[in-house]
Amino acid sequence: MKLLALNCNQCGAPLEVPAKAKFVTCNFCSTQLSVQRTDKVAYTEAIEEIQERTRQMSEDLKHLKKQSAVEDLDRSWRRRREQFMIRSQQGELSVPRKGMAIGIGAFTTLAGLLWMGFAMSIGAPGFFPLFGLLFVGAGLFNAMRLSAKADDFHRSHRAYLSKRHDLLS
Ligand SMILES: [Zn+2]
Repeated sequence: MKLLALNCNQCGAPLEVPAKAKFVTCNFCSTQLSVQRTDKVAYTEAIEEIQERTRQMSEDLKHLKKQSAVEDLDRSWRRRREQFMIRSQQGELSVPRKGMAIGIGAFTTLAGLLWMGFAMSIGAPGFFPLFGLLFVGAGLFNAMRLSAKADDFHRSHRAYLSKRHDLLS
């Protein structure tokens, strides 16, 4: 039987190993060794170390997967967030907020009512006060649409945050 002359990689003791053996126990320190072979050389490695390295690698892989899942989630949320953005008259982009909807509703209702009051007080023909009503209607419609959009945005944001939290925990 052909023997390989190797050394224990734990204590350095010389070992004689059958050429085809995959495992050997060191006679000196009793470490269980795996016989590793490359094209050119053979050497021993403690099995515990191999197991530790495998465990470490799978841990690293898990970590990488988690990281990339979070990055994917963040990216898709940024895209989604952009779809929610509304542009102000000054050209600034912002996310829809409930407060803005309430502000628009209140402002247009007030302006429409003032207009109606004014038109009636000067005895303008009937369709003039009705303009005010139209104005109020359009304002409230816009306010409601914006409010629904703000709710939708909040829901999406919360869902994104909880998903992200789940991924990280
Ligand atoms: Zn040894």
